[in-house]
Amino acid sequence: MVYIYESHMGWYYWLEEEAQNTYCDSCGDSDFLLGYANNAKETVNLIKTKSHFADRYYVKDIKRFAKSIPYHPDP
Ligand SMILES: [Zn+2]
Repeated sequence: MVYIYESHMGWYYWLEEEAQNTYCDSCGDSDFLLGYANNAKETVNLIKTKSHFADRYYVKDIKRFAKSIPYHPDP
């Protein structure tokens, strides 16, 4: 399971654990937690339904990002 974030600078990133603080000292804005995902399909769905700016990006690029995430890393 990974946490999917929307960056206040644009685009998305993932973390293995929920961030305690995504506040940006430079501009005072914060990143937005979209939710968590267990596979690429869930990630794409999260972005499509929760992101404020998913329509800025091509679906194929969002899918590529979703597929690049290691959902089940080796222990
Ligand atoms: Zn900033």
